Amino acid sequence: MSIFKVGTNTKLGKRIAAFSLPAVSTCPGRTRLCEGICYATSGFFRFKNVRNSLASAYEEACKPGFALRASEELRRRRSIEAVRIHPSGDFFGTSYVREWIEIVRSNPNVRFWGYTRSWRESAQQADGCEGILDALHELSQLPNIELWASIDEETAARTGSRDQEVSSEPEEASDVTGSSASPESPPGWLRVADVVDDWSQVDSTFVQCPNLKNRAITCAKCTYCFKPAKTKKINVAFTKH
Ligand code: SF4
Repeated sequence: MSIFKVGTNTKLGKRIAAFSLPAVSTCPGRTRLCEGICYATSGFFRFKNVRNSLASAYEEACKPGFALRASEELRRRRSIEAVRIHPSGDFFGTSYVREWIEIVRSNPNVRFWGYTRSWRESAQQADGCEGILDALHELSQLPNIELWASIDEETAARTGSRDQEVSSEPEEASDVTGSSASPESPPGWLRVADVVDDWSQVDSTFVQCPNLKNRAITCAKCTYCFKPAKTKKINVAFTKH
């Protein structure tokens, strides 16, 4: 069975593969809010075959040699230009993040992106997550990945005035308000992905995901989330759906 799925997620578009895991159980940094509105726990994701496929993906990710097998598959399937990590699920452990470091590093011609809440304090304290922030930092610094900190109104950090450039320093956990860092503030080396009630909640540093306004604009056409930011618009916002 293939590790990467192409064509199962219409939002992604052509030549973009996805790797998903079961939602919630693999999300150590989840908030009550994101668990409540998680699209990956309803609709299509409740079909038995989809649940089985996600469970198999988790087993695959936990088996020794995951990075090797995934890298070999990407090298074989040359039509895959980009990989969306975790349309469902999240980085559930430090050694798992290290597998992705190996996959991303081994495939410099493929672009990767993913949104994560595993930067949060609750994730850092979860079983198997010791040092996960350092591992996420290492992953985020690879040249062919864009890694995003998912936030929502339950995290301390919110949209409103994030206007600093993305920092490459792991120690500088600057928050979106510019005040001293709090445990809930995403580190400055991650771009921010926010979930809002309406677009008026985001400032000029945010791109409003165009797919939510026009389904014909797929990620393959848009490309914003898997390319480095070229302007002060470094963040992305989604409406609750
Ligand atoms: S902003 Fe663009 S790349 Fe990012 S999720 Fe929306 S359509 Fe996809």
